[in-house]
Order: sequence, then structure tokens, then C-alpha cells
Amino acid sequence: MLVRTDLSGCAQVFSCSMRTIGVQGPGILARRRVLRERAGIWYFIRKRVDGEIVMEILKQRILEEATVVSAGVLKLDSLLNHGVDPGLTMELGKEFARRFEGRDITKVVTIESSGIPVAFATALVLNVPLVFARRKKTLLNEPDAYCERVPSFTKGIVTDLLVSRHLLKAEDRVLFIDDIIANGDAARGLLKILEQAGSEVAGIGIVLEKSFQAGGRTLRELGYQVESLVKIASLEDNAITFED
Ligand code: 5GP
Repeated sequence: MLVRTDLSGCAQVFSCSMRTIGVQGPGILARRRVLRERAGIWYFIRKRVDGEIVMEILKQRILEEATVVSAGVLKLDSLLNHGVDPGLTMELGKEFARRFEGRDITKVVTIESSGIPVAFATALVLNVPLVFARRKKTLLNEPDAYCERVPSFTKGIVTDLLVSRHLLKAEDRVLFIDDIIANGDAARGLLKILEQAGSEVAGIGIVLEKSFQAGGRTLRELGYQVESLVKIASLEDNAITFED
């Protein structure tokens, strides 16, 4: 069960309580300021706590619903790769928005198809547009699109990532969101597309990082802020072991 999903309700409660406390009298402005500051700190803490609860729920759902299909590959169809839990996905979006707060993000970018729901949730909370790179197996030259060839981790084939040139601008500050990171090929392909467009990368948000594979680590070493909601340290012996 999600404990509380509506953070805006929390802010409303505080503003109401401040209004009722705000009676006439000397020093009232100073008192109001203190109360407002306390409410701000409390609101910040509540957001963090909400994020931690959501991450625990996500871990629990992974333990209950995921299966290890082969060496290093997780099947999580009910949440990420085939089905969507809209309530939980919105909470994941809120958590990404919290982690990248104040980064002046102008666009969320992801890769079709499994990245789209959580990227949509994040874009909705940040109130910015979403763009998803299309995956195609094409020999055609697409002059109106940025294009990068990447190996597909699960399909074992090479595909092209394509984004129409008019959807990315040099002045964009982009948050890249994806469902899972393994070796980081898909992410690197997308980052090359952003580089071609001249867009700035504000950060990278990943729902599930398989930290026994090099993708997340390599991107951090390159200087990117990579925020993974859940890290899986091992899938050995068909058991899911979280990093912390
Ligand atoms: P990478 O390019 O980082 O090696 O792989 C990332 C892409 O492959 C993601 O888009 C993700 O959907 C898919 N992927 C990587 N590992 C897994 C996995 O263990 N299970 C599933 N279902 N997809 C994965």
C-alpha cells in the first residue's frame, strides 16, 4: 500500500495551519516566519521519507514479481517491461523529480518502449515535455533524425536509436530516464544523440541498475549524475540481492 501519495496536500495542511495560527499581536511576523521555515523543513523531510517508502515498496514488488530468466537477466513484466502499475509509476516519477529538483530541466528523454511510463510520470511532475527515442532496425538513411546504432541487451541484435531533429534543441537541459541499465550501451547511444543536438545533460535517472554490470559506474566515471532508485548487486543462483 502506498502510504501517502499527495504531497501537495501536505503543503496545503501547513499553509492552512499557518493561517489559523496567524492572529494579531506584536512579533507575529517573526513567529510566522519561524513557522513557515519549520513547515518548509518538515515538507522537505516528508518528501525524502516518501521517497524511501516508495523505494522499499519497489524492492518488495521486485522480490515478489520478478524472475531471473538467465544469467544476469531479470524479467519484470508486471512493472517495467510489459505491464504498468500507474500509481507506483507516478511515485517513481515524483522521486526522480525530487532528486533532480532545481536543475532547470526543460525536457525528459527516454527510449521506447519500457522507459516511457516512468519518463512520462517524471515529465508530468516536472511539467516539461517528454521525447522518446525510437528503436528501429533500419538500413534507410534518415536525414531528419539523429541516429545512433546500439546493441540491444535483451534482443541480442543491433538497433538504431532515432530522434527527430526538431524535437531536441541546443538550449535544452535534458533529464534522461530509463527502466533498467546493464552495460550502458543504450544510455551511451542516447547521450551521443544529445551531444549531436548540442543539448545539455542535466542528469540520468534509472529505475533499476544492475550494479554487477558496468553501465551505471561507467557513466558516473564520465561525470554524469546517475540516480538509480534500486540497485541489484547480484542475480546469482536465481536470487535477487539488493546493494543496500
Ligand atoms: P544496456 O544498454 O544498459 O546494456 O541495457 C539497457 C536496456 O536493455 C534497457 O532498455 C532495458 O530495457 C534492457 N535490459 C537490460 N537488462 C535487462 C534485464 O535484466 N531485464 C530486462 N527485462 N531488460 C533489460
